[in-house]
Amino acid sequence: MRQSQNNLPCASRFRIIRATDAATRATDQCDCACVDTRVAAHAFDPDAAQPHAVYHLPRDTHLTPLAGDWHFAFQPRALFAPVVLNDAARDLLAQFAAPRSAQFANAEATAAARELITTQLLVPTERLAAPTTQVATTLTAWLHLTNACNLRCAYCYLAQSPAAMPRTTGERALDAVVRSAVRRAYRGVKIKFAGGEPLIDPALVWQLHDYARRITARHSLALDAVVLSNGTLLTAPIIEQLRAHNLRLMISLDGVGAAHDAQRHFADGRGSFVQVARGIDLALARGVAPEISVTLSDRNLDDLPATMEFILARDLPFTLNFYRENDCAGARADLRLDDARIIAALREAYRVVEKYLPRRSCLGSLADRASFLAPHARTCAVGCDYLVIDPRGRIAKCQMQMDASVTDVRAADPLQVVQADRAGIQNIEVDEKVRCRDCEWKYFCAGGCPLATFRATGRYDMPSPHCAIYRAIYPQILRLEALRLIKYYAGEIS
Ligand code: SF4
Ligand code: SF4
Repeated sequence: MRQSQNNLPCASRFRIIRATDAATRATDQCDCACVDTRVAAHAFDPDAAQPHAVYHLPRDTHLTPLAGDWHFAFQPRALFAPVVLNDAARDLLAQFAAPRSAQFANAEATAAARELITTQLLVPTERLAAPTTQVATTLTAWLHLTNACNLRCAYCYLAQSPAAMPRTTGERALDAVVRSAVRRAYRGVKIKFAGGEPLIDPALVWQLHDYARRITARHSLALDAVVLSNGTLLTAPIIEQLRAHNLRLMISLDGVGAAHDAQRHFADGRGSFVQVARGIDLALARGVAPEISVTLSDRNLDDLPATMEFILARDLPFTLNFYRENDCAGARADLRLDDARIIAALREAYRVVEKYLPRRSCLGSLADRASFLAPHARTCAVGCDYLVIDPRGRIAKCQMQMDASVTDVRAADPLQVVQADRAGIQNIEVDEKVRCRDCEWKYFCAGGCPLATFRATGRYDMPSPHCAIYRAIYPQILRLEALRLIKYYAGEIS
């Protein structure tokens, strides 16, 4: 019998749809430290359950009607967000408002109840364990190949200079990353080739990537690598090299035409949109789909729907990121986000997402550093599973604090020094943050960028300065994902 997305027989009257990794191929690629840890409050295997186990529906579960007989459910501590249900499955779920056995006289209902347990919408009453944090499997490193750039973006946090990373320093940097990865039994490393603009010297990228491939293979480490570029220097030979090296490409695009140019311009003041759009289309024509990073400030909000049209019409993966105040851009008050304006702009942008509903999930793309791909206790991997290495081989905790180095590439285990540092940026778990610890969104939001919070409040244990924005948009992100699941998977199980 054909099995559906939900592992229920096709003939079942119960419809329960949840995303799987393979089905979504989601992106949460961004220019920050990718988080790679999960928390699960009650990961539970129904096959291991006692025959007379009793289950219930936690009170904080969101249950929201959609079109037709569809609903979506969101359980803040579950692994799957959201889960789509038809009327029959919703009614079955409701029977667990009071604790009961998952055994029904009807075999179909029992199978559906087991699926609801697998999705973690139903939890065993006797086993509400404290959240457990899984160990990260990937160590991420930002290689800051150059401090030089051909653009002068309004929000850039770099004090630009011609300083570039010598090849030998780059190789020592990669050695250091692999040393820490091996010592700490990571399964893979992720390298972000960044700057400045790393494609100012593309040969260095290819050389260091080849070196990374050799040393990771020697230690049986998986390698994932991405070039973070402004997109203006892309040529056909560079794109061919990216393909040949199996390197991913992330391009910053902040709008269409003037909206992009208002933030991202050359040193002489000319806008860069024409060159970036040409680079994106050149890459696409040659089989490379760049991941688009959009930085939202008050300058480009009005154009956000048009930006989303540009991105989604090309079926490109993307992330929407909020401008972060920094000392370099500090004087530019017109970049600052106004809560009401950005909430309105995001709602308009989500309308465009609903129009296209891409096949890949947007759960990690739509709300700055928040990700609904998997519950997690920290916003990013800073101070845990992340190294930022500057052109001189000094190692810092965050790319926005490159001057605050804590060690260098000669350290036997640089990650140990980073993790032990108590003076610089502190990336504490969301359960330690005032107010966040009681928030229903905490394991998907994790309290926002620690640096932004510290800048706004002088503390790391406070909610994000963007908290009101996040709370306003999170339900809409879940709704979009539910609509996407219905679009692509309801047909498979009807
Ligand atoms: S920043 Fe706000 S939305 Fe995010 S976890 Fe904290 S309280 Fe919740
Ligand atoms: S601290 Fe903030 S800026 Fe630094 S990597 Fe984390 S989310 Fe990004």
